[in-house]
Amino acid sequence: MEGRHVTLLPGVGTRLAGRLERLGIRTAADLLLHLPHRYEDRTHIRPIGSLRPGEKVLVEGTVELAEVARGRRRRLLCRLSDGTGRLDLVFFHFYPRQAEQLRRGAVIQCFGEVRHGYAGLQMAHPEYRQVEPGGGVGDSSLTPVYPSTEGLAQGQLRRLSEYALALLPEELPDLLPAEVLPDPEWPPLDDALRRVHRPPPESDPDALLEGRDPAVQRLAFEELLAHHLTLRRRRQALHEGAAAMVLDGGTELTAGLRAGLPFELTAAQERVDAELAADMASSTPMLRLLQGDVGSGKTVVAALACLRAVGSGGQAVVMAPTELLAEQHLRTLHGWLSPLGVEVAWVAGGAGAAERRAALQRLAEGRAAVAVGTHALFQDPVAFRRLALVVVDEQHRFGVHQRMALKEKGGEYEPHQLIMTATPIPRTLAMTAYADLDVSSIDERPPGRTPVQTVVVSDARRGEVVERIRGALDEGRQAYWVCTLIESSDELEAEAAEETAQRLSEALPGHRVELIHGRLPASDKERAMAAFAAGEAALLVATTVIEVGVDVPNASLMIIENAERLGLAQLHQLRGRVGRGRAASTCVLMYHGPLSETARARLAVLRETDDGFVIARRDLEIRGPGELLGTRQTGALTLRVADLGRDAGLLDAVGRVGDRLLRDEPGVAEALIRRWVGDAERYGQV
Ligand code: ADP
Ligand code: MG
Repeated sequence: MEGRHVTLLPGVGTRLAGRLERLGIRTAADLLLHLPHRYEDRTHIRPIGSLRPGEKVLVEGTVELAEVARGRRRRLLCRLSDGTGRLDLVFFHFYPRQAEQLRRGAVIQCFGEVRHGYAGLQMAHPEYRQVEPGGGVGDSSLTPVYPSTEGLAQGQLRRLSEYALALLPEELPDLLPAEVLPDPEWPPLDDALRRVHRPPPESDPDALLEGRDPAVQRLAFEELLAHHLTLRRRRQALHEGAAAMVLDGGTELTAGLRAGLPFELTAAQERVDAELAADMASSTPMLRLLQGDVGSGKTVVAALACLRAVGSGGQAVVMAPTELLAEQHLRTLHGWLSPLGVEVAWVAGGAGAAERRAALQRLAEGRAAVAVGTHALFQDPVAFRRLALVVVDEQHRFGVHQRMALKEKGGEYEPHQLIMTATPIPRTLAMTAYADLDVSSIDERPPGRTPVQTVVVSDARRGEVVERIRGALDEGRQAYWVCTLIESSDELEAEAAEETAQRLSEALPGHRVELIHGRLPASDKERAMAAFAAGEAALLVATTVIEVGVDVPNASLMIIENAERLGLAQLHQLRGRVGRGRAASTCVLMYHGPLSETARARLAVLRETDDGFVIARRDLEIRGPGELLGTRQTGALTLRVADLGRDAGLLDAVGRVGDRLLRDEPGVAEALIRRWVGDAERYGQV
C-alpha cells in the first residue's frame, strides 16, 4: 500500500482515522485521491449591495448592530454593512462567545447563502471569522467541499488535504511521464492534484466537476488505466500454465446441424462462429463474451461450439440463469443435437432425483456429451469426464469468481468459456469491468423480422387493451401479459400475476390463459410454457421471469404492466419476446399515472428505438453503471475520479497505453494497480 498512514499526519488519532476509514481513506495518498465534489468561491469579496438571493458568497463588513432576539425562538441577529448595503446574519444556535465576537464595530468576513429575510437580505448560520479592518482579501484558491461522513467536518478534511498536498510529489510519485500521456497538455500528477484540490481563483469549477479540466482528465485517465490493467493482469494470471483441450474437430457434426436448420446463418453469426472456432482450436483457454441483442440468434452459435467440443472428444455444458430458460435450451438443443447422435443431459431441479442421478452418471461416464442446467450447476458436484467447453447464457453479471470456480471443473484441462448476453455492454464498461474477456458481437438480426411497434398507454385504458388482446387472439395470434410490482417481492408478484390471470381468463372466454411465476413448481411452469409454445394456450400471464430467452414466434403482442418502474434494458429484453415471427408485433407499455417527465422520456426511448446498444447507453446515462452491472459487480467499479459515462472518450488511449505498459513496464502497471485498486484480492471477490 502506497503512502503513509493517516495517523502519521498531525492531529489524527484513532477516532478520526476510523471516520476517514469509512470514506475508504487510510493513507495520505488516499486523501489526495479523495476529490472535492463541489467548490465554493471565497476568493472574491462581494459588495453587499450586489448580492442576489440564492448566491453563496463571501462578504466583509462591519457589525452595525447585534442583539439576541427572544421571540418564539431565541436567536442572535446581527446586521453587517460594507458601505454598499446591509445584510442580516441570523444564528438560531449560538454560544455566548459568539455573541461576544459579533459585537458592534467588529469587522468580519462571512460566507454563506444569501436569502430573503425579514427586512432585506440575510444569511442564516454563515461561516464567519473576524478580520483586521480593511483586511479585505479572500482565499487564494476556490474552497473544496469534500464528500464526507458523519462526525467529519469539512474543516478537518481541508486541513488534512492541506497536509497531504504538502507531501507531494513523494507521497504519490508520478508514474506516467508526459510522453506516455495521450494529451501533452495534461499536467503532471502533482500539479493536477493541487489544481483539483485547490483550484486557482480564475478556474472554472464546472469544468473541474464535469471532467473537462485537463487536471481531472489526467486523473481519470490514470484511474481507468489502473482498472483496465487490473483486469488484463488477472486474465494473464488466470491462464498462466493453464491448458485447454484443442477443439478443432466436429466438422461433420457442425455440417449436420447446419444442414438440418430451416434457415441460413446471418453474416454476423458466421463471423462469430469463425471467431469461436479459432479460439477453441487453441490450447489457450477461450474466455469470450458474446453479445447479441435479443433475438439475434446466439443459441445456434453456441450449439455449433458445443458440437466442436463434442466432435473433438470433449463435453460441453450450457447454463442459464433461470430454470425456464434452461428448459428451453434443453428443448432446442435436444431437438438439434439428438438427430446427430449427441446426447443432451438435463441436470437441474425439476427432474426427479432418480432421473437426475442417471443424468449425472451418464455425464460422468462421458456418454452424455452435453449438459444443460441452471447456473447453480457450477456449484453442484457435477462430475464430467472431459469437460471442454462451458457456455453461460444471459449472464453478463457472471462474476470473475464464478468464472474461476468453473475452471476447476475441467480437471486436467481448463474448459473454454463462452459467456452470452443480450444486455449490450457499453464500451466503457467492457473496457473496465470486462477487460479480461474477449468480445464478439452479433450485430445483425435474422432476416424476415418485422419491427415491434411500441405504444405507451395509461392503465386507465386497461379495458381497451384487453379488447385489443381479444382481437389478436381471435385472429389466432398469441400474447404475453407481464405483471410487475413496485415492491418486487416474489410472493406479492406471484399473487398479482395469479389475480391478473384470473381476471383475464374471465374477460377472454374461449381462450386458454396460462400462468408462470417464480413461485410455481417447476413442473407447472414447464407445463404452462409447453402449452404456450405449442400454441394451445393463447395468453401467457407471467412475471418478469420470462425476461430472458423465451422464444415463441407466434406470440406477437405483449402488454407490460407498470412499465415505468422497470429499467430500459429490462423492458427491451421483455419486448424482445415478441417480433420473432413474421406477423407485425406490438408491445404495449402500460403505466400507472401520473407519469413524471423523466419517466415519460424514458419510455419514449423505447418507442423510438429498437437498438439495444442505444437503449443500454441511455439506461447507463439515466441509471448509472451500478444498476446495469448489478450490485455485486459494482464493488469492483467504485471509481474515485473517473465517470464511465463522461470519460468514454479516454478509453481508446487507455487500451493503447495499457498494452504498452504491460509489455514494456510491468512494474509501473503493478504500481498503478496498487495505487488505484488496492490489493488485487478486492477484485477476486466480486
Ligand atoms: P437470442 O440471441 O436472443 O438467444 P435465439 O438464439 O433464441 O436468440 O434466436 C431467436 C430465434 O431466431 C430462434 O427462433 C432461432 O431459431 C431463430 N434464428 C436464429 N438464427 C436465425 C437465422 N439466421 N435466420 C432465421 N432465424 C434464426
Ligand atoms: Mg437466448
